[in-house]
Amino acid sequence: MCIFCKIVNKEIPAKIIYEDENTLAFLDINPRSKGHTLVIPKEHYETFDELPEETAVNLTKTIKKVVDILKSLNPDGYNILNNNKPIAGQEVPHVHFHIIPRYNDEKEDVIKFSEPVNVDLDEVLKELDINK
Ligand code: 5GP
Ligand code: ZN
Repeated sequence: MCIFCKIVNKEIPAKIIYEDENTLAFLDINPRSKGHTLVIPKEHYETFDELPEETAVNLTKTIKKVVDILKSLNPDGYNILNNNKPIAGQEVPHVHFHIIPRYNDEKEDVIKFSEPVNVDLDEVLKELDINK
């Protein structure tokens, strides 16, 4: 069983800030800022694309609730981040969203993309085949 499933089952402790039938939100054990929270579906799925639509909707509702809860910490902004697969930085293979409050006086860097890659956008559109 994965570590987040163990948190869902209360086999290992977590600082839970929101819970309902389908979702759970708890403080990240290695917070990147004060209030850094992880939001997960209670059911185990590895990546976002695997979620049934209803689960994705429930998860999104909880993300919104958590953003509202975290307002009591008075952040100046926040990041919502979801890593899928190790190549994208996913370490825990149970889908989760990071909600990271940001503060004007913090030392942590802004999360930035590296230099843009050179791809032909028309070629990308063609490859996506969205008119099928
Ligand atoms: P990822 O890199 O997979 O997007 O993020 C995984 C996150 O889970 C990390 O920020 C890490 O600190 C957090 N994490 C890993 N194990 C635990 C745990 O046992 N409890 C809590 N609360 N957070 C955890
Ligand atoms: Zn799991």
